Amino acid sequence: MKPRTKEKLYIYYRENKKCFYCKKDLLYKQISIDHFYPLSLGGTHDVFNIVSSCKKCNKIKENNLPENALDTLVNLFKKAVRDDFITGSNLDISNRELKELLLKVYRVKNISGEFIFESSNYRFYIKDNQVYKYNYVNTKM
Ligand SMILES: [Zn+2]
Repeated sequence: MKPRTKEKLYIYYRENKKCFYCKKDLLYKQISIDHFYPLSLGGTHDVFNIVSSCKKCNKIKENNLPENALDTLVNLFKKAVRDDFITGSNLDISNRELKELLLKVYRVKNISGEFIFESSNYRFYIKDNQVYKYNYVNTKM
């Protein structure tokens, strides 16, 4: 699902009305949506994978992967969880319980058209800003 106004406004304010990369001040109408983990490499339109950027940075970045990209993605994901942007879809636990589990995520397991995040006990599968599946795993093993 492509970013709608709601997601665009969210990232605009999340970045404090600045370009995610060069921190230049931007008007809302000036932002370009950058897919942090490029679509061409399997990135998605999820809100934690889009950042508001100036046109110049968006052009320079193109399909390159920023340094520490995976750590940044985990941070953007947890920020979206804290902001109640990530919810469950037909899960057997409440969104409140889910939120607690999601805040323990510490790494990206896989990205290939969808994101999979892991905490030390669970693996979460994300589509369209929703967790549609999670399972118990011991990721330390
Ligand atoms: Zn910029």
